[in-house]
Formats: sequence, structure tokens, C-alpha cells
Amino acid sequence: MEKIKLGISTCLLGENVRYDGGHKLDRFLTDTLGQYVAYVPVCPEVECGLPIPRESMHLEGDSESPRLVTLKTKQDMTERMVNWANKRVVELEKEGLCGFIFKSDSPSSGMERVRVYNEKGLPVKKGVGMFARIFIEHYPLLPVEDEGRLHDPKLRENFVERIFALKRWREVLAKKESRGTLVDFHTQQKLLILSHSSKHYEIMGKLVAQAKDIPLKNLYQQYQNILMGALQLKTTPKKNANVLMHMMGYFKEQLSSDEKKELLEVIDHYRQEYIPLIVPTTLINHYVRKYDQPYLKQQVYLNPHPLELQLRNHV
Ligand code: SF4
Repeated sequence: MEKIKLGISTCLLGENVRYDGGHKLDRFLTDTLGQYVAYVPVCPEVECGLPIPRESMHLEGDSESPRLVTLKTKQDMTERMVNWANKRVVELEKEGLCGFIFKSDSPSSGMERVRVYNEKGLPVKKGVGMFARIFIEHYPLLPVEDEGRLHDPKLRENFVERIFALKRWREVLAKKESRGTLVDFHTQQKLLILSHSSKHYEIMGKLVAQAKDIPLKNLYQQYQNILMGALQLKTTPKKNANVLMHMMGYFKEQLSSDEKKELLEVIDHYRQEYIPLIVPTTLINHYVRKYDQPYLKQQVYLNPHPLELQLRNHV
């Protein structure tokens, strides 16, 4: 499989680009996720022309539109950073990124809760790093996370699921546009979408059912927007348990009463968070193979990302 392209704050890859000449290597990102991902590194402070090492900076002023200022000599770097960032986000369009992983807490790269110092010199954790803000505004549908949040198993699973979904969607976009291709794609993603939002699942079902009456370009655009919006919503044990019960319905005729009882128990234990999601999905995968269930066999929900990442072992 061609690797997924992701933007990343350069220091997370272990490059010595920080203000103090150090780095913030994150082993999960380089060694584990890195097996499936081709990173496009971006260090806003170095790429906008600042040296290594350099004076450290922070955000100050209004948290909605703060200024980027060096700590000791109080040089205002806002304009330099904004001019560079506006050009860089356009340049990145040619990379076909499926997401971005930012360095948390950085006045340039942090994507949320970055300290902004008010006129009294007190920090308010409400800011967004200067480059991160411009990037997110330019690519509102692209999955973004920071390395700190990715230590949370649920956020990690959601982010990886979204980048793999976007990669699959990009593969559809690379083919000749056709209603048939879109319908096939949708059929495979249905239960994945349902695990995030039953509302989006319904809206997308209606959209695909009316595909014939919508101009193709418009149909693709609408579909993409709703898909990305759906996957942004987090799954929960309750939502996943509903999908698992829905899947169980496909085996009504085949499962013995003992098998049914066991599967129901496993789903219920998962719903109550006694066991992780990998347990019921493994059991359902087993029945899909055993009974060769044609609809479930093609559901991405059962294998949304490589098993080796073990993401469902922890959610
Ligand atoms: S946080 Fe951003 S600006 Fe700072 S060193 Fe890392 S990549 Fe560069």
C-alpha cells in the first residue's frame, strides 16, 4: 500500500530544530505509525527564516488574534510568520496530505490550548499556534491532532481511522468520477460511518440514493464534506455496540443459540467497557469468515486500519 502522506511538526521526528537546538522525538509517530505514513515535515520557525538556536517566543494579546513575540528582546515575529505561513499552506496543496500532527503547546505549531499572555503577563490556555491556525483555516476538513492528544488511545484510534478513511477516499478521487464508484465506496464505509453518527449515516444514505439526480461534481463534493464531518465525531462504546448488534442481525439464521449468547455477552461486556473493541470485532470477523457473509465481508468497519497498530486493543 502506498504510504499515507501526513504533515508533521519537524521536531517530532527528532530533528534538532527547536529554539534550544533540541528536538521532541515521538517514537510512536516515527517507529509505529511511521511504517504506514510518509511524513512531510514543517518547522514554521526555522522555515520562516529564524536560526537554531534562537530566542524563545510566546503568544501575547488577544487569544483570538495574538501576536508572536520573542521573550527577552520583545521582537514581534507575527508578520514574518503570517506571511510565510500563508504561502506555505498553499505550497502544501501539492503534497496531497491526509492530515497533520502538530507539536502541542508551541506558539507556532500548537493546535489548541496554547498559552497566550494577557497584558498583565498572565497566561490563558486558549490560543492556537500561528502556523497551526492558518493551516487549519486553509484545510478545515483535514484530520489534525497533536502528539500530546495522540497519547490518548481513543483520540489516537479516531485520528488514525480518519487518515485511513481519507486515504481511501483520495483513491476514489484518483479514479474517473462515476456514480457507481461512489456507491461502491459508500457501501463499504456504511458501518464505519454509522459508528460515528447515525444522523450522518442517514443523510449520506439519502444522498447516495439520489445520486442519479445530482450533478457528479456536486455529488462528490457533498459526499466528501459529510463524510469528513461524520468521522470528526467520536465513536463511543454505545455507538459501537449498536453497530455490533446491527452486524449480529446478519447472522440470525446461522448462529447457534450458544454462539448468539456468547456474542451478545461479548458485546455487552464491551459496551460496559470491561473489554476492548478488538474482542467483539474479532469474534464478528470470525463469523464473517465462517459464514462468508457478503455484505459484512466488505465493511471497512471490521478492519479500518492495520491490526499491527493495536489501536482497538485499547479502546
Ligand atoms: S514546535 Fe514547531 S516551530 Fe517549534 S521546533 Fe517544533 S516544528 Fe519548529
